[in-house]
Amino acid sequence: MDRQQEFVLRTIEERDIRFVRVWFTDVLGTLKSVSIAPAELEGAFSEGIGFDGSVIEGLARVYEADMLLRPDATTFQLLPWRGENPGTARMFGDIRLPDGNASAADPRTVLRRAMARAAEQGFTFYTHPEIEFYLFRPDVAPGMPPVPVDQAGFFDHVPHGTAHDFRRAAITTLENMGISVEFSHHEGGPGQNEIDLRYADALATADNIMTFRAVVKEVALERGVFASFMPKPLAGQPGSAMHTHVSLFDGDSNAFYEAGAPYQLSVTGRKFIAGLLRHANEISAVTNQWVNSYKRIWGGGEAPAHVCWGHNNRSAMVRVPMHKPGKGQSTRIEVRSLDSACNPYLSYALILAAGLKGIEEDYELPPEAEDDVWSLTERERRAMGIDPLPASLDEAIRIMEDSELVAETLGEHVFDFFLRNKRAEWSGYREQVTAFELEQYLRL
Ligand code: GLU
Ligand code: MG
Ligand code: MG
Repeated sequence: MDRQQEFVLRTIEERDIRFVRVWFTDVLGTLKSVSIAPAELEGAFSEGIGFDGSVIEGLARVYEADMLLRPDATTFQLLPWRGENPGTARMFGDIRLPDGNASAADPRTVLRRAMARAAEQGFTFYTHPEIEFYLFRPDVAPGMPPVPVDQAGFFDHVPHGTAHDFRRAAITTLENMGISVEFSHHEGGPGQNEIDLRYADALATADNIMTFRAVVKEVALERGVFASFMPKPLAGQPGSAMHTHVSLFDGDSNAFYEAGAPYQLSVTGRKFIAGLLRHANEISAVTNQWVNSYKRIWGGGEAPAHVCWGHNNRSAMVRVPMHKPGKGQSTRIEVRSLDSACNPYLSYALILAAGLKGIEEDYELPPEAEDDVWSLTERERRAMGIDPLPASLDEAIRIMEDSELVAETLGEHVFDFFLRNKRAEWSGYREQVTAFELEQYLRL
């Protein structure tokens, strides 16, 4: 047993914790939880706890359904909303096969592998997400548009508003769990909010995002509202993005920073962006994984719809934010395509792989988009070499099917499962006759 594991056992004893949950994530990004008794923990650290993986999306083929979950002691936290007496704690777990090897279907394994490849080149991958979500009234009627808790907009201060109190409660809970929040505000849509987490390495960030979603849902329940991370819940209102600021560090120095270069962006940073752009459409089925995701990245509301980059250009898919004077190490790249309902482990693995590919293969960065890409005509965009992002999940799946980069980064098992699952989702969607169609065509 290592020191961290000993610390966990000691804390459990001292704080009289009776329940320990081990969290993991399926291929589609849904949080799963197994509860174990503290007495089982020592064995769980050494061997793992056995569970039947066959019921979990994408986890196992039938013949390897018996799996092991090994708690990662470095992620130990108390769950504040479960109260003190007796307390409940949680750790993230790694999924192993009965022979002890890491399961290829575990999204944490996929991200770890991508980060290990970056480490071979001397890089640590840091990420900082800006997570948007909606707060709705709890009485959501099936098939009806949800009703937002307020009618406020971007950065509005709502006196005694639900959103304000909500953010304070959510942030307090997050900080109690060791997750630092940098910034929070009301977003553009009615009932829409954003909370930005402090940067961390990509694996810690992905774990933090999973915790964040659980916390936001819990706090919403406590306060009698309903929180949604759906990419585009309301027609005609902005969708919910999960913009992520990324950087590569080589030891203590930011590999994206170069004093005096345009936007203080190094050659490495430029190649990373070139990789993101060249592979953007291949990774889209993962960063924007639902039928509904494509309504956001086409439907305005400041969401990107085209593959391009710019400096402080909010219509671009990749943005190099303004450089704070005197803050040399703060150069970073903002990826704006991801939505709040993606699997953060798989999405970050692919973003990293695409950027690294740009560095390894010396991709040339196309010129930046200076205009509002949204207001250009299709023809102008074509003349500038700016392609659209996929228009639908169907298109994104077809592009991903041919992607070597995605197959290699996700591994065969996740790649195949993901495509099969998404094809089924698309055909389920195609079978629907929507309210729009009835309204438009019934009288024909
Ligand atoms: N909600 C917008 C989107 O879907 C982003 C708004 C912002 O720039 O923060 O991309
Ligand atoms: Mg925002
Ligand atoms: Mg942003």
